[in-house]
Amino acid sequence: MLWSLFKILLFVALVAALAYGVQWVLSLSADATIRFNDVEYVLPPLVLIVGALALMLVLWVIFKLTGLLIATLKFINGDDTALGAYFDRNRERKGYAALSDSLIALASGEAREAAAKAQKAEKYLNRPEVTTLIVAQASEAAGETARATEAWKTLVTHDRTRFVGVRGLMRQKLEAGDTETAMKLAEKAFALKPRHVETQDTLLRLQARDENWDGARRVLSAKLKSGDMPKDVYKRREAVLSLADARNQLADGNADKARAEILEANRLSPELVPAAVMAARLHIESGEKRRAAKVLKAARLKTPHPDLAAAFAEIEPGETPDARIKRFQPFLKVAPQASESKLLETELYLAAEDFPGARRALGKLYETEPTTRSLTLMAAIERGEGGSEAVVRGWLAKAISAPRGPQWICDTCGTVHADWLPVCTSCEAFDSLSWTAAPVGATPASLPSEMMPLLMGPTRADVPEAEVPEVLAEDIALVEDTKPQTPRPHDDSVVVVELDEKVGDAPAMSVGDAPGVSIDDVGTTRDVGSTATPPRN
Ligand SMILES: [Zn+2]
Repeated sequence: MLWSLFKILLFVALVAALAYGVQWVLSLSADATIRFNDVEYVLPPLVLIVGALALMLVLWVIFKLTGLLIATLKFINGDDTALGAYFDRNRERKGYAALSDSLIALASGEAREAAAKAQKAEKYLNRPEVTTLIVAQASEAAGETARATEAWKTLVTHDRTRFVGVRGLMRQKLEAGDTETAMKLAEKAFALKPRHVETQDTLLRLQARDENWDGARRVLSAKLKSGDMPKDVYKRREAVLSLADARNQLADGNADKARAEILEANRLSPELVPAAVMAARLHIESGEKRRAAKVLKAARLKTPHPDLAAAFAEIEPGETPDARIKRFQPFLKVAPQASESKLLETELYLAAEDFPGARRALGKLYETEPTTRSLTLMAAIERGEGGSEAVVRGWLAKAISAPRGPQWICDTCGTVHADWLPVCTSCEAFDSLSWTAAPVGATPASLPSEMMPLLMGPTRADVPEAEVPEVLAEDIALVEDTKPQTPRPHDDSVVVVELDEKVGDAPAMSVGDAPGVSIDDVGTTRDVGSTATPPRN
């Protein structure tokens, strides 16, 4: 508004100045005198000024005509392209002007304008790799998918722009959710430029999603060759691929091939927990107990995972709980400071019904790291030592709302997975799962759903209502009518504590979920003995 007003004022001022100037020139009495061939011309000042302007115009025309004349002469002398080049220069200038307008429009977010200018530039310049590219990008930004597709397809037909065109089409297909076509285009793009990081990643993701492990291996080695992947990451990913393939082979019944893949995965990445567990089981099967123990200890060094302890327990399925505590000592020493070691030792003592030992092993972990597992173990210790029902239930109530501790969590999207997988089920990222605790605040405050049917025990008359924390009362009500279930095997993240009416009985600890094992007063199942029933004292 202000700007328009200013422009009007400026225009008025200019007109006024011009009128004043003309009047001033007219008022000058001195005339210019030009002598030419002994004839004197007397020119008034105004005529002189107009004459000067006219002379400049004539000179410009002569300049232009000379250019054309030179081009024509060259053409007559046999230079066929001279005339064309003269006119081309003009077209080129207009073309580049339109092109720069188009780029500026694209950069300032005016996609439609950019596309229009790029098409104009295309008419003047015969440079489709530049102009079509801008048309494609501008159309995409403006949401004109059909026009963008046309442009990408045009780019595919030129040698220089083939990769850009394929990549553009691939991204369009990915966005549209057509992963099958996207995969084919990604393979084409990969063939054109094997070192292109984005293409490698996209292809790897799509192949992992489709469980095309062989294809993924090719991409992975290309990534290593292009130097944008550290050797250790490469080895780990190779291991993940081998393991993923092994799972497929197992599902298809190819035990021998699966075996080779598992051992290869463990060789490539000794710290990969699922590979170590599977490899250890293979060694146990073939009677190589020492090798199994070695493999499990090597993995435990990096990640003290309960599955490793479970497999370590499987090495000697028939041992007594006391013998197991003794045999586990070197295994515990692999990561003596890890919370997992304290929890594991506590569970071993509980299995041996050595409750003071269990309390010693747990230490202050229920305070420093109050997780569902550590607090449930505390409840089991209290129960074992004959603590009151109120105290035991108090610990259980805390356990319900406590963080879950480490889980398989996707580094990319944060999704929690019950078991290790090569590809995240949520974001389809490859090799993105780490055994780690969920960030604070991400843990649901409610009882994990899988724990619901496992936490048994009706509300008791001998426990005053006020002493039953509200959250527990609700959960008990939820599960009260549920038939007691056998704890699920291989549930590594849930410690199951079952309570029944036999308060005051000698508490017993059960490590194992094999049929025939009775869960007496407090039963805790861990993977530590999930495949075996140790003799009970
Ligand atoms: Zn994810």
